[in-house]
Amino acid sequence: MGRPPLNRRLAEFGTTIFAEMSALATSTGAINLGQGFPDTDGPEEVREAAVRALRDGRGNQYPPGPGVPELRRAVAEHQSRFYGLSYDPDTEVLVTAGATEALAASLLGLVEPGDEVIALEPYYDSYAAGIAMAGGTRVPVTLRPDGERYRLDPDELRAAVTDRTRLILLNTPHNPTGTVLDRDELAMIAELACERDLLVVTDEVYEHLVYDGEHVPLATFADRFPELRERVLTISSAGKTFNFTGWKVGWVTGAPELVSAVRAAKQYLTFVSAGPFQYAVAEALRLPDSYFAEIRDDLRAKRDLLSAGLADAGFRVFRPAGTYFVTTDIRPLGENDGIAFCRALPERAGVVAIPSAVFYDHTETGAPCVRFAFCKRAEVLRDAAERLRKAFAH
Ligand SMILES: *Cc1c(COP(=O)(O)O)cnc(C)c1O
Repeated sequence: MGRPPLNRRLAEFGTTIFAEMSALATSTGAINLGQGFPDTDGPEEVREAAVRALRDGRGNQYPPGPGVPELRRAVAEHQSRFYGLSYDPDTEVLVTAGATEALAASLLGLVEPGDEVIALEPYYDSYAAGIAMAGGTRVPVTLRPDGERYRLDPDELRAAVTDRTRLILLNTPHNPTGTVLDRDELAMIAELACERDLLVVTDEVYEHLVYDGEHVPLATFADRFPELRERVLTISSAGKTFNFTGWKVGWVTGAPELVSAVRAAKQYLTFVSAGPFQYAVAEALRLPDSYFAEIRDDLRAKRDLLSAGLADAGFRVFRPAGTYFVTTDIRPLGENDGIAFCRALPERAGVVAIPSAVFYDHTETGAPCVRFAFCKRAEVLRDAAERLRKAFAH
């Protein structure tokens, strides 16, 4: 054989821990709290809207490249309704194949080979691969445990910026730690971006899943830092907010030049996707406030249920202010290798979790931590908590 087929840019991304852990869940019959997808579907009326679109022949052929106008308008209205942000649906909104494509296309459209991209570590698994595909160099800034939560060190972020830094890839609410950046942290990032001539791509897919405090889009700081408007690209998607992770309908909002750069890459990745679902998501975004309150309150209760179970079983639990996930430290159980722990957990306790180390470049920092998803039915979480308590609590 000559050289291995997978190229050097992607060599380190050949297999993912999610595939390994999901296979373990299947072969052992363990409860899968690894991958973050809900085990119930989104609202009936939104599913019906998708069926209607499909039957009426809306979106069954290639929709417009930037997304159907109904959805682009609904996204603009949503940004205005929840955050007072104003975007032109024609030039400042782009529909993508989920947040995943929005992230990849943003990086491909905005990053030159050799540019440095700062990302908050631990990070969502597609970030490292997206930066690599764009030929960028990733520069992790590590969130560190501080009492019950993980915190960003502003000095560490400032110190990570060099003359080669092009972009900060932000994620709030943050997967996997559940940290929600507060106004002071966001203001500091806004100021830094303007001072050091940086772009910020901000992944806000958990914007409606905040249990303590509030979600504040970075883009709202353009009031205080007017230059920011030309620098921030906001990403979100329907998957997490509406329990339709399989639909893969996402979007970006931002200044026309930024959105055009993303569109330039996006048109050669998928061009378009999810035609009929785009119409349904337009309706979903217009659901009354009560929908958004209910999904948040429901997930807050699930967070509390699983967190209490994990604490009872002996884990150190970091309280997530948002997202689908709770991070734990396994050292109180007498363990310190999260990867070995997660490989053994299905046999030992009948539960699947993800070792946090896979979300780090500094793998030793994440080594004793393990992430559990709580976006599951309450009875599933109760069962998992009971299994963990039996396996570990003495
Ligand atoms: C789930 C997730 C995504 C991917 O969203 P899709 O719309 O399914 O592509 C992106 N970022 C984070 C932080 C996520 O947790």
